Amino acid sequence: ENIMCGIAGYIGKQQAAPIILDGLSKLEYRGYDSAGIAVRNEATDKIAIVKAKGRLKTLIEKTDGGSAVPGTCGIGHTRWATHGGVTNANAHPHKSGNVALIHNGIIENYAELKDKLLKHGYTFYSETDTEVVIKLVDYYYRKYNLGPVDAIAKTMVRVRGSYALELMFRDYPGEI
Ligand code: GLU
Repeated sequence: ENIMCGIAGYIGKQQAAPIILDGLSKLEYRGYDSAGIAVRNEATDKIAIVKAKGRLKTLIEKTDGGSAVPGTCGIGHTRWATHGGVTNANAHPHKSGNVALIHNGIIENYAELKDKLLKHGYTFYSETDTEVVIKLVDYYYRKYNLGPVDAIAKTMVRVRGSYALELMFRDYPGEI
């Protein structure tokens, strides 16, 4: 199966959201069923996430062309649903603690990873396979406190399937 979603990102001196939305619009031809964006606001040190099922146009309107989500670092996604219906909750980016993530592909062993994370006290808000990846990154990030690269590497050892991932950490401004 060919999964045809889109991933965009921006770090730099300009406002990220309008550039990311423009990038996603160039990927629209690939097909998708929902879209979302996460931008790190350096004034508040918080990551804002906005999602919209349906057309990218809806996300663009919802964010006022991107100006509603200020910041110079961000990630954006157009989703082609494989696990879970077409809803705002299932749209990406997904978030756990101080980490935000976008995923293109399928996590084959998500059910077993979900069981493990439920035992560790995590609760799930979406029906996606993707949510286990962000929760696992968050779990390792907190447990070892060795930074993003280590947390991602530990997660990759556990995850089976196909995946392109894009992540952002609240504690690491200007990095995706
Ligand atoms: N499997 C993920 C989901 O259903 C990602 C799908 C995609 O590649 O867009 O949310």
